[in-house]
Amino acid sequence: MSRARQRITNAVESRGYKVKELTWEPIYNAGEMSGLAGGWDLILDRPFLERTFPGDDMGALSVEELLANIDYWLQPSDPCDCDREHSAMTAAGLINDPQKPTHDPACQFHIKYQLRWWAK
Ligand SMILES: [Zn+2]
Repeated sequence: MSRARQRITNAVESRGYKVKELTWEPIYNAGEMSGLAGGWDLILDRPFLERTFPGDDMGALSVEELLANIDYWLQPSDPCDCDREHSAMTAAGLINDPQKPTHDPACQFHIKYQLRWWAK
């Protein structure tokens, strides 16, 4: 298993889900109205969204983006003190862009990733 697949699998399993299918295809231009397509496609063992079909899938163009989606959408079952709603405003005034993972490094649910547009 590649390092990327291992990171994704570990993140999914840290939230109590399992990877049913994980594929990657080269990124391509899907045309006007669609933009970039391809990248990672993840299917989980069960839905994580209510009233949505299938509700068990997520995709991303990079590993870091997929880890961010897993971090945000797969809610841990136990409570913690982290800001799960990403409600903090950044210095730039952006809402819902916390510039850090949802869970702090000290939290048991922390997933390590760094989105490209975050300040270093
Ligand atoms: Zn936490």
